[in-house]
Parts: sequence; C-alpha cells; structure tokens
Amino acid sequence: MRIAVIGAGVIGVTTAYELAVDGHEVTVFDRRGTVAAGCSFANAGLVAPGYVSPWAAPGMPGKVLRHLFAEHAPVRIAGHLDAAALGWAWRWWRACTPQAYRTNRARMHRLAQYSRGRLLELAQRLHLDFERAQGFLVLLRSEREMALAEAGVRALTELGAAPAVLDAAGCRAVEPGLNPETPLFAGLYSRDDEVGNCREFTHLLKKEAARAGVRFRFNAHVESIRAGAEPALRVLQAPHDARDEALRARDASDWSDTQPEAGETSTPGFDAVVVCAATESRRLLRPLGVRVPLLAVHGYSVTAPLREDDSHMHLEPRAALMDERYKVAISRLGKRVRVAGSAEIGGSLEHQNERAQATLDKVLDDWFPGVTRRAAAQRWKGARPMLPDGPPVLGPSGAEGVWLNVGHGGSGWALSAGSARLVADALAGRSAAVEIDGLGVERLQKR
Ligand SMILES: Cc1cc2nc3c(=O)[nH]c(=O)nc-3n(C[C@H](O)[C@H](O)[C@H](O)COP(=O)(O)OP(=O)(O)OC[C@H]3O[C@@H](n4cnc5c(N)ncnc54)[C@H](O)[C@@H]3O)c2cc1C
Repeated sequence: MRIAVIGAGVIGVTTAYELAVDGHEVTVFDRRGTVAAGCSFANAGLVAPGYVSPWAAPGMPGKVLRHLFAEHAPVRIAGHLDAAALGWAWRWWRACTPQAYRTNRARMHRLAQYSRGRLLELAQRLHLDFERAQGFLVLLRSEREMALAEAGVRALTELGAAPAVLDAAGCRAVEPGLNPETPLFAGLYSRDDEVGNCREFTHLLKKEAARAGVRFRFNAHVESIRAGAEPALRVLQAPHDARDEALRARDASDWSDTQPEAGETSTPGFDAVVVCAATESRRLLRPLGVRVPLLAVHGYSVTAPLREDDSHMHLEPRAALMDERYKVAISRLGKRVRVAGSAEIGGSLEHQNERAQATLDKVLDDWFPGVTRRAAAQRWKGARPMLPDGPPVLGPSGAEGVWLNVGHGGSGWALSAGSARLVADALAGRSAAVEIDGLGVERLQKR
C-alpha cells in the first residue's frame, strides 16, 4: 500500500518504520525541519509501564484544585480556558470514577508493557544507542506520601508489576548520590524500567526507516486531508521556524533529505493516511467529522551537562527518578541530567512560566545539588497531546482511508513502539500480538 504518515515525532517515525518493514511505500510529512522537533524533543525519557496511568483518576479533581494555589504546583492553569478546554475538562472529570480509572489504567499498562518489549527488541535488533539507563525509583518524601502511594502499589501488584518498596537506606543504595539532607521516607523501585533519549531514538529510527525506503518531506505543513478510497493531502510550505536553524546546525547529517516545496500542492492519492500529528490532529480531523478531544498539556524540562571535575563524581543520578510530591522526573541521559515536569493547562508554547522552571531547579537541588553545570542548561517547553480519559486512540478513524495513532499524553515515548506495531497490524488486517480493547476511536464517541 502507499501510505502517508502525518507527523515525524516519535509516534510518526515508529509508525513509518513499522509500515515500511511490512513492505508498504511510506511518505512522512512534517511541518518542522527535522524529526522529533515537537513534544518528542526533550521529554523526561521514562519508559516505566508501572507509571503509565491516566491522569483521570479518583481524587484527582480535588488534588488539582488544591495544587492550583501552591508555589511548586505540579498542575497549573495558564490564562483563560476556551470552550474546547472546558469540554475536555468535563470529559476528564467524568472519567475520574474508580471504574473508568481501573479500566483505562489496565489498557495503558498492557500497551506500555508491550511497547517496552518492542522498544527493547528494536534497540537490540538495530543496535540503537540512545543513552539508556536501567531502573526507575519513585521518591516518597513523607509517610503520608507512602500511604497515598499504597493504592497504586496494590493496583500494580494486581497487574503483575509490583515495584519493590524500599526504605530510605534502600533508596540510597540504588541511587547513592541522593542528598542525605533532604528528608526521604521511602521509595518504589522498578528494576526493569528504564530511561532513554527519545529524540535520539527518533533520529536513529528515522535513519533505519529511510534505509527501509521511507521518504521524509520536511517543512511540509498538512493543511487538510481528503478522505476517500484514495485519500490525499493538501500541503503548504511551512513558514520558516527559527528554532529549526539551531537544529539544522546540530543535525547537519539529517538535512540531505529535506524537500521543502514552494507554494501549495495536493499530493497524489494514497491507499491510507495515518495521522500522528499530536495536538494538531484535532484540527485536521474535525472537517472529516472525526472528533478527537485532544488538549495540549504543557510541560517543561531542563537539561544540563554533568560537572566534569572530581568533586561530584559518584553523586550524580544513575538512572531515572520521580519526585512524587512535585511530579518531577530526574533522568540520567549519558553525560547529562534532565529534570522534567509540570502540567500547564491553557497558555501557549511560547510563554515560559518562571515558577514551573523554578520547581524543576528546586527538585534537582533538593536531591542532587551541584551535579550539573546549570549555566550550560537547555530549557524546553513541550505540549503533551492529551485525551481526557487516558489511553491513546489507534486504528481506523471512521473517515474512509484515514487512520489514527494519537493522544499518547504524558507517555508517548513509552507507548510508541507498541502503538506503531498495533496500527501496522490493523492496517495489514492482521490480528495483533496483544489484544487490547478500548483503543479504537469509538471509545471517544460514547457520551
Ligand atoms: C515535560 C514532558 C515530559 C514528558 N516525559 C515523558 C516520559 O518520561 N515518557 C514518555 O513516554 N512520555 C513523556 N512525555 C510525553 C511524550 O513526549 C509525548 O507523548 C510524545 O512525544 C508524543 O509524540 P508525538 O509523535 O505524538 O508528538 P510530537 O513529537 O509533537 O510529533 C508530532 C509531529 O507532528 C507534526 N505536525 C503537527 N501538525 C502537523 C501538520 N499539520 N502538518 C505537518 N506536520 C504536523 C509536528 O511538527 C510534530 O513534529 C513528556 C512530555 C512532556 C511535555
């Protein structure tokens, strides 16, 4: 089949790769100048199935309201919320029941387990080196946090993925650099979970996809999709994006295959179009009568090189950690450390919230003071493509010839390899290696 993929984030690139491996003729369109320039650029990098769960959870509405007024709040509302955001919030609130949470959590967990296995397989088969480190430790600062985490531990035990519950000394044995002056009550440790550089992986897999015959068209903004037996795209040359100049300098090897087109073009017909355009998918799908309530939930990260002098040797993080109180992740990525978190509803990618940035700095200083060269840090803001109830939607959209791989929210990296394989299997009309119900678009049409 001739297949167009819209979006070259981690979701679009894994999808294109799996489709090419199945023998399809694939073209990827992205409005940016390279792969992984959107939300896949500088995320926390966690591949931790136990931590992949819906944000729509019992007790969450109350927590969100309380957090809104805290200085180091994990959740913030930026500016006014439009009708779409309010509609999303209503659906989110309705998905916070214990039953909906249990169902959606189980779906996400199965997809995450499958994805982690696929990712490992890809990494081994293709010899991909993307700054992986093994182990994930959730830090619980107080007895109260441990008590609140117990329901989650029980749920994971039921799913067969119970983390080890460690006392403070146990946590320090796993991560010897943890600052002894910051109170620590306990930790939840998952040895099989890992952290890796999502952007690096996407670049490496893009090369493999290109080798398998995938064509990439960058600076190509898909304006609209024409559904039908031979779906086609209307493509405009994307306006110059200043951020891509810096990427162009860093990823010089990647630019040989960019093919900016002048003016407006209609592509020839394809046999299928797969939409992997993150939050933009909502706008693209709406004229086709496909309603996918995606909301941009912004988050921040700061990535800094480790100090190279001896004074902090052995004190830096070894793998991945999560400060449960602030919902901030600390990730070791090769010779750098990334701190990531914050959920900002509303606002824009351009506006930087200084308090959110300060929370990231505080969490790193609390646990690993002085290990990075802060002056050389790169700060980033991304938009999580979030559905109100949790799991992504994969498979046919309901519009003829148009398929979906969207809505991975705060776990798109962890869910990418499995989601891509499931979409490729569905497109081939094959039964999938794992059966996970409720990932189809019909789930979202239920009122
Ligand atoms: C702070 C933060 C921390 C995170 N931490 C983690 C983590 O630890 N683990 C994890 O699994 N996930 C994490 N995530 C989530 C993860 O980054 C996302 O779920 C994932 O990157 C989504 O991938 P994507 O390919 O769907 O989106 P993107 O990477 O945004 O890709 C979408 C692509 O579509 C293109 N596009 C959009 N519209 C059009 C159009 N009209 N025409 C052409 N191209 C278009 C865009 O240019 C973009 O390149 C985090 C996110 C944030 C913000």
